[in-house]
Amino acid sequence: MLNIVLFGPPGAGKGTQSQRLVDKYGLIHLSTGDVFRKNIKGETELGVLAKSYMDKGQLVPDDVTIDLLKSEVLKYDNPKGFIFDGFPRTNAQAQALDDFLAEINSSIVQMISLDVEEGELKLRLANRAKESGRVDDANPEVIQKRINVYRAETAPVKDFYAEQNKWMMVDGVGSIEDITERLFKAIDSLK
Ligand code: AMP
Repeated sequence: MLNIVLFGPPGAGKGTQSQRLVDKYGLIHLSTGDVFRKNIKGETELGVLAKSYMDKGQLVPDDVTIDLLKSEVLKYDNPKGFIFDGFPRTNAQAQALDDFLAEINSSIVQMISLDVEEGELKLRLANRAKESGRVDDANPEVIQKRINVYRAETAPVKDFYAEQNKWMMVDGVGSIEDITERLFKAIDSLK
């Protein structure tokens, strides 16, 4: 399976680019944020719990998120591979993902980081807020909190994969098409 972690801070373009990778490589896009938002819409118990963290820009607890991720992966029969978007966000999640994939005779092939500087991220998130209707994009304090959480808890996950020689960075600034081309090149180089 071609399992890729698409990594980067909020607003780096992970969701947008994932869609394009799905089209090209026939992979399954798995965004924990999207699954949480679906649950919020459906007013499930999980949705209520997730919302209480998401609206504040905090991470949903690891145990809940890891269980959710596993059950999402197991929904698919014989997948070509996954693009994990927004997961793992902590070292504990990364370890749990490795352990889980090993159980199903699979592994992460590569983490690809989209590199975008902070000023650009804030501009993108403010713009996205106008269209997405996402509560967590609309409030500058929540945006700052998400960036801070990313720096403190999520950015170190890069080292987890770098230590396994499974990390690369792609320039995440430019037109959407240019960034997609860079990602295609990066992924083609893995095969
Ligand atoms: P995203 O759509 O990836 O920007 O995620 C939106 C929000 O969902 C985050 O700010 C977190 O509150 C929550 N979330 C998504 N993925 C995770 C994760 N892997 N671990 C913890 N919280 C998550």
